Amino acid sequence: MPDDMSRPLVPGWSESGGSRQLEASLSDPNTPMVGILGTGDFSRSLARRLVASGYQVVVGSRSPARSVALFPEEVEVASQMEAATQADVVFVAVFPEHHSTLVTLKSALVGKTLVDVSNSLGINRDGPSNAEQLSNLFPDSFVVKGFNTLSAWALQNGPRDGIRQVGLISGWWVFTLMCVGFNISCFVQVLLCGNSSKAKDLVKHICHRMGFIPVDMGFLSSSLEIENLPHHLFPSWRLPVLCMLCLFVFFYLYNFIQEVIHPLVEKGKGAFYKMPIEVVNASLPSVALVMLALVYLPGLFAAFFQLRWDTKYKRFPNWLDRWLTARKQFGLCSFLCAVMHAVYSLSLPLRKSARYKLSNMAYQQVKAGVEDSWNDEEVWRMELYLSAGIMALGLLSLLAVTSLPSVASTLNWREFTFIQSSLGYCALTAATTHTLIFGWNRAFTPARYPFYLPPSFVLVLILPCVVLCGRLALFLPCMAGRLWKIRRGWERSRQIRFALPGEDCRNGGGEDVSNV
Ligand code: NAP
Repeated sequence: MPDDMSRPLVPGWSESGGSRQLEASLSDPNTPMVGILGTGDFSRSLARRLVASGYQVVVGSRSPARSVALFPEEVEVASQMEAATQADVVFVAVFPEHHSTLVTLKSALVGKTLVDVSNSLGINRDGPSNAEQLSNLFPDSFVVKGFNTLSAWALQNGPRDGIRQVGLISGWWVFTLMCVGFNISCFVQVLLCGNSSKAKDLVKHICHRMGFIPVDMGFLSSSLEIENLPHHLFPSWRLPVLCMLCLFVFFYLYNFIQEVIHPLVEKGKGAFYKMPIEVVNASLPSVALVMLALVYLPGLFAAFFQLRWDTKYKRFPNWLDRWLTARKQFGLCSFLCAVMHAVYSLSLPLRKSARYKLSNMAYQQVKAGVEDSWNDEEVWRMELYLSAGIMALGLLSLLAVTSLPSVASTLNWREFTFIQSSLGYCALTAATTHTLIFGWNRAFTPARYPFYLPPSFVLVLILPCVVLCGRLALFLPCMAGRLWKIRRGWERSRQIRFALPGEDCRNGGGEDVSNV
């Protein structure tokens, strides 16, 4: 770490020219003297990063003599009062429980900017935030909330190293992080808020110079949200992941009853060896297909609600709102299951059970004197089945990649909706075809209904077929035209005239909605 810290962050800063630039920056009257109260982990990382960015730093400690060895020699370690007096801007790197012990510094901090870097112990829903409490303690100072979303480690390694660390993680992990909505630029973003724009500008400037990207979140009232951020654990993923797990458990038990319990009851011969791979592999595609259908179902609900209400200016029910905002996560869960299904399927021939079955079949064939077991229908079924599956997986991969924030930001709205909506429906169609071909004529074989339960591929097809039929219904001219008008702002209850492009209202082409 010390080696890393000695490396300059500011562009153009070099070993040879560094001291000259540091001197120039320190002699610059616009460069504020930065103070830090507290000598803990965060304070040490911050002090090093500030020094590397060309700031003069004074750290305030309750016992400076004990703490001086913890900091590089460029940092001045003094008493809390000395630091508060000397500094123009003061970072409060002390736990919020101890903020009240700093009130003796009140007079020294009048008119100065205080940066509250503290995090709360857990999610604080009711407030007030630590920053608001600090502001009440120091009414004559300007409190800015910020830097709490960075760890001491991230601060120590600096923004560029943050990116390098990400680059070192395997491609899959980068992809996974990005899929869960972790924008890589989060590594260098610093969320700020405060009531004084002058104080915020000062802190923003320091952020920029340290190589971070300040993000202004508004007034100090936003500090509660900023303080709660580090405590969130994938809030947008809860519903989709729960759904995926419930579906997996359901289909696993369903397939377990059909594949393992039924032969045990009927023939007294258990097939428990199927549990780790075969049953899992039969459940994963079912989950993937239902989850994919669940991506497009809320859009249909929204369209039908709008058609029923004849307006788009009415709020959807809360459950639909939540569902609509979680579509990306539903899609990525579906993609995960589809990829795992592909990997499991590729591993099927590697199993000992598959090899024994194959050699037994070959033996039976020889014994029965069958020279050529080629079956055209089976061959075609398998070719089409695999091809549709590969196509579905390819399209799903495209959807997953374009849902990454960094890729999505390079697309315009039309390109994005074309991929996510049109190609998404193509993926759903390909996946449904894959399942239909898998079923082929098996759905009509009584042996496929153990305990009178329909095969899982029949169950799984219900929702995607409903979604695809619903989508086709919306293509009907009577539905499509009306929906188009509603989405352009037409309302049945308003006395407005409305014309589709190319229609002439004067010639009666426009519709007087009061008559509809
Ligand atoms: P820490 O290692 O425990 O350091 C806290 C420092 O506060 C102590 O070293 C102490 O320095 C000083 N202090 C002043 N008055 C005190 C008092 N009455 N009782 C105890 N200590 C007192 O904590 P930290 O990890 O640096 O965290 C400091 C703040 O940064 C916290 O509010 C935390 O939420 C925030 N933060 C930390 C991280 C992180 O990664 N560590 C990340 C984001 C935010 P002296 O003894 O020299 O006075």
